[in-house]
Amino acid sequence: MIAIDGPSGAGKGTVARTLSEHLGYRHIDTGAMYRAVAWKAGHEALSLDDEPAVAALAARAKLIVEGGVVSIDGHDVTRTIRTPEIDKAAAAVARLPSVREVLVRRQRDEGRDGGVVMEGRDIGTVVFPDADVKVYLDASQEERARRRANDPAHTGSRVGQAAVAEAIQARDKSDTTRAVSPLTLAPDAVHIDTTNLPIPAVVERVLALVKEKVSRD
Ligand code: C5P
Repeated sequence: MIAIDGPSGAGKGTVARTLSEHLGYRHIDTGAMYRAVAWKAGHEALSLDDEPAVAALAARAKLIVEGGVVSIDGHDVTRTIRTPEIDKAAAAVARLPSVREVLVRRQRDEGRDGGVVMEGRDIGTVVFPDADVKVYLDASQEERARRRANDPAHTGSRVGQAAVAEAIQARDKSDTTRAVSPLTLAPDAVHIDTTNLPIPAVVERVLALVKEKVSRD
């Protein structure tokens, strides 16, 4: 189990995907789960304050977040969940303790047999505290906003870098201050600042950690 955590725009998605391809592991994007649940709540016109209803939706949903495709109850939401509105809605949904409970249980089920690169905010701290390799990716605020604004998968790119930077700051605040499983660096995670580090170099560093772990065990 390889756990990759960190704030948005730190490079988690690309690094996790590339790593999983190198290692022949599954890649599970847990942020996409929160996004898909937020999307479906909107689709069903549920209020995001209605915690029991959103948690029930999360529990019964057929959710697929693998291989670059995200679908919920048969709706392919791969692209529609990457918008500024869903950024906000996903962070709101992620503050609801009973929704987290449901999704964390699903994430543990998905990762039970290992051979997984799982990315998110609380993978190394809460979902798999015994993960074999834990990495916390970070980058400067400015660099993260630049990456997000240039990310073609994110339709938010049209709003410009300043607005993206503001939205990222708001989401960081929500993710780091929430009562349940806030984004935080696990004491045993390897912290990598990717501000000036190209993706292949980050992947090399994580692969070295994996090799080290394999040779130790
Ligand atoms: O990683 P991504 O930006 O797609 O995540 C969307 C939102 O889902 C985050 O802002 C965060 O609030 C929430 N999230 C979470 N725990 C995770 C993954 C994502 O709370 N493991």
